Amino acid sequence: MSKRVFHHPEAPSDDSGVSSWRSVGELERTASFRAHVEREFPEGSGHLSEEDQKATRRSFMKLMGASSALSGLTLVSCRRPESYIVPYKKAPEWVIPGKPLYYASTRPRAEGSVPLVVTTYEGRPTTLAPNGGHNDGCGADALTQASVLNLYDPKRSRNFLRKGKKASQREFERVLGSLAREGSKLAVIVGEDDSPTRNRLKGEIEKAYPGSKFYSYEALCGEARRTVEGQVFGQGTQTVVDFSRAERILSLDCDFLGIDATGSASDFSRKRQGGGEDYREDVAADAMNRLYMVESAFSLTGGMADHRMRAKPSQMAAVAAQVATELGVKVEGYDSAGLSSEEKAELLGSAENFDSWIQECVADLRAHEGNAVVLAGSRHGEELQRIVIAINRKIGSYGNSMVVYETGRADYGTIADFEAEVDGETTVLLLGPSNPLFDRPGEQFKRKLKRAKLSIHLGVRTDATALGCDWHIPAAHYLESWGDTRTATGTYSLIQPMILPLYGGFSELEILSQLLSWREFDWESLSSEGAEDPVVAPTLIAGEGMGKEPSPALAEVRKTFSLPENANDDGDVAWKEALKNGYLQSSSYQSVDADGAEDSAPRLSVTSRKSIEINFLPDASVWDGRYIDNGWLQEAPDPISKLSWDNAALVSPKTAKKLGVYESVEQLEPETNIPLLGKVKNAPQPSIGEGKGARAPMVLIKTGAGRMEIPVLVAFGHADDCISIALGYGQGASDGRDGVPFAREDDPLAPVSAVGLNTGFNANQLRGDSGFICEAVSVKKIEERYPVALVQEHNAMNGRALAREISTNDVEHHGHKVSFEEQVAKVREQGPVDSHAPENVSLYKRKGSTTWESDKDKQDDLIGDKIHQWGMTIDLNTCVGCNACLIACQAENNI
Ligand code: SF4
Repeated sequence: MSKRVFHHPEAPSDDSGVSSWRSVGELERTASFRAHVEREFPEGSGHLSEEDQKATRRSFMKLMGASSALSGLTLVSCRRPESYIVPYKKAPEWVIPGKPLYYASTRPRAEGSVPLVVTTYEGRPTTLAPNGGHNDGCGADALTQASVLNLYDPKRSRNFLRKGKKASQREFERVLGSLAREGSKLAVIVGEDDSPTRNRLKGEIEKAYPGSKFYSYEALCGEARRTVEGQVFGQGTQTVVDFSRAERILSLDCDFLGIDATGSASDFSRKRQGGGEDYREDVAADAMNRLYMVESAFSLTGGMADHRMRAKPSQMAAVAAQVATELGVKVEGYDSAGLSSEEKAELLGSAENFDSWIQECVADLRAHEGNAVVLAGSRHGEELQRIVIAINRKIGSYGNSMVVYETGRADYGTIADFEAEVDGETTVLLLGPSNPLFDRPGEQFKRKLKRAKLSIHLGVRTDATALGCDWHIPAAHYLESWGDTRTATGTYSLIQPMILPLYGGFSELEILSQLLSWREFDWESLSSEGAEDPVVAPTLIAGEGMGKEPSPALAEVRKTFSLPENANDDGDVAWKEALKNGYLQSSSYQSVDADGAEDSAPRLSVTSRKSIEINFLPDASVWDGRYIDNGWLQEAPDPISKLSWDNAALVSPKTAKKLGVYESVEQLEPETNIPLLGKVKNAPQPSIGEGKGARAPMVLIKTGAGRMEIPVLVAFGHADDCISIALGYGQGASDGRDGVPFAREDDPLAPVSAVGLNTGFNANQLRGDSGFICEAVSVKKIEERYPVALVQEHNAMNGRALAREISTNDVEHHGHKVSFEEQVAKVREQGPVDSHAPENVSLYKRKGSTTWESDKDKQDDLIGDKIHQWGMTIDLNTCVGCNACLIACQAENNI
C-alpha cells in the first residue's frame, strides 16, 4: 500500500516561543539527534547502516524462537486437556479451523490475579485479553499480555535435573517416594498470590508431614508493608484502593499505575475523563481526580501527576511526616525541622516552595476527607508505612476510598522466617515463581538452602535456583494448568488449562496433591512383587489423570469449589457457570474494620543521607527477572527511559554532571567530519545502528555489599544524588560482563535463553541485606562504554511538534507578529496538526468521493489509493503509557 510521504519543513526556530522536547539530544540539538531525525523518514534503505541491513535488532532469530512456536511453525502436537475443556481430538462441530474460540481463565499474580479471556485457535492459546464480564476486571497489563509467549518458549525447562544434570522422572519419583514414606519435615516456598486450593492443601500437608511449614516469597513485594499491615490490621490483610472513589491522591513513591499495583488502574483512568466516558459531554473538572506525586525516579504514575516533587528514597518518610504534622498527626521523633531548609530547597528550589507545596496538598486532602488517599511505595521501610496508615486514618480513607481485606494468606511465614527456621532435617520445596538464588540479597538464603537435607525446585526455566537445587522439576505454565486464585478484592477465579503441558511440566497443585496421596499410599504393599497382581509404585501425573480420570489438580480445585464457605451447590451447573464466567459470584474477601484496629504508632528515626543513594526497582519488561527470556517484553522499551534489552543506572542531569558523565551523554555521536567539507551539520550517513555509535558511558558503583559496572543514562525528573537501577537483569552472559554468571547460547541448561543472554547487569549484587534502598560507598566513571538500545528519539516527526503548541505571547512567524488569538484560530483551521505542518487530511472523508464533494473539479484524491486506511485514536487524558497495547498488538499480529 502506498502511503503519502510528508516532506516536512525544518522545525520552527526558537522564535515560536514554545518547544517541547523528549531527550537530552533533542533539548540540546546534539549531532546524534539531528542525524537520527534525518533518518526518520527514509525513502529507501540508503540510510540503514550495514549492521541494520544485516539484522535490525539484537538478533532477529532470538525473537523468532517462541513466536514461531506460537504461530504453529514448530509445535505440531498441541493437545487439549480432555476433562471439561473442549475435547478437540473428537473434532467437535463448533471448532472450525481458522476460527477462534474464547475461554475465561485467570493469571495468578501477587498483587491480585488478572481475569482473562483467552483466544485459542485449534487448541492453541494465542492472545490474552481482559475479561470485561468479570466482576473484578482490571485490564490486562503488559506482563500479562506477554505471558502467552512464555508458554511457547523453546528454552522452557523440559527435563528433571539432579544437581544441574539431566535425570529421569523415575529417579525423582524414588526420592519423592522416600519423602512420602517417611513423612519428612518440609519447608514449602510459594508465591504471594492467593490460591484457595493451595491454602487448603497447606493445612493438610502440615498435618501429614509433621513439622512442615509454608512460606511465601516474591522478590519484589516489599516485606515492610506486609509486616506493618499485619501488625496493625491482622496477619494476611491487604489494602486495596478504590480509585473510583479516590478524588485526591498523594502517592509517596508508589507507582500504582506501573510496577506497584494497589487497585484498578482502569478506575483511576475513568476518573481522568472528567465526568463521563462519552466525549460529546462537557468535561466537568470537578469530577476528575487530582494526583500529587513524590518520587525518586520518573514513573508512569509520576507522568500522570498533576503536581510532582522529586525526593530521594531516604527523604520520603520525612515528607510523609511533614504531611502528617500539617494534618495534626503526631509522628514520634519528628519535629517540623526534620527536613532542614537546605533539604527542602533541594527538593523544590526553596524551603518556601516546599512548605507551600505540602500545605496546598494537605488542604486539598483535608477538603476531600473520605475520598482522599495517601499511598506509600511497597518497597519502602516500616516507618513510611506506619506514618501513611496514620494519615489515612486521619483523612477518613479506610472504609471509603481505601479498603482493608482479610485474605487467605494469614499463616504463611516470610522468607526471613525461612532463613531463621530451616535446619538440616528439612526438605525444601521451592514452588514459587521467584528465583531466590538470584534475587534474594545476602548470603543467608544460600547458606540455609545448602544446609537443608534436600532441596527440590519446580519452575518453567532452568534458572539459577533450578541449577542450584538438588532436584529440579519442569513446571507447567498457568495456561496449561488447573488452579484457582483470587483477585485483589478477593473474587474467587478459576484457572483452566487451554492446552496440555507442551513439555510435560507439573503444576504446583499437582505436586502438593500428590505429596498427600503418596503419603497415604501403602508403601508396604510394594513388597508384593512377584504376586499375581503386584502393586506398583505411584507415578507423578501431569496434565490429565490416568485413563479418563481428571488431573489431580482439577480434582483438588473441584473439592475447594464445593466447600461450604464457597456457598454454591457443588453441582455441575454451578461449576460450568463459574468456568464460563471465569469466577464465582459474591466471593470477595471480607473487609476489616481498619479504624478499630491497632494504632500504627507512627515514628521517624531515618534522616536523609548525604551520600549517593541507590534505589532498586522492578523492571517494566523483565519484572524480577522471570521474563528475561521473553522477546516481546525485552523488545518493548521501558515506558519512561525508552531503554530496551538492558538496564542502566538512571541519574538526574545534575548528578550526571557531578559524576562527570553528562558530557559523554551529550556527545554520543560526534558531528561527521567529511574530507574537503569539514564538519557537516547533519550526518548524511549516520552510524546510529544498534551496537554502533550509541554508546553510553559507564560507572563503577561500590556499596557495602558489592560492586558493579553499569552504563549510565540521564533521566529527567530524577532525584539528585540518587541512582535508580532496575532489577532482574544480568542472569547469564557469554561476554564476561562484571558479576554475571557465564552462559553459552548453545547450552540447553544455561540459566537464560538466547533472548536473555547478555542482557543487562545484575544489581542484586549491590543490595546486601538492605532491601530496596542502600547507600553507595563510591560511584566513579570508568573508561568503558556500553551500546544501549534507546528508542526515545525514534519517530521524532522531523520538525512537527509532539503536540500542538502555541504561545500565550505574540510570536514571530515568517516575519509577522502572530497573536495568541490568531495562533488559536490557525490551529482550529488546520485541525490536529501544529501550525507549520501541511493541512491535515481526513482518512474518513475522502475528498475524491462524491459523497463528500459534489464539485467534480475538487474531486482530486489527496490519498494515494482508495483502499482502506485505518486511524487509531488514543485518549491521552487516560493513557498512562503502560505498553499493554504494544504487547497486545504483537500477540494479536504475531510480530
Ligand atoms: S493506550 Fe495507553 S493506557 Fe492503554 S494500553 Fe496503551 S499504553 Fe496502556
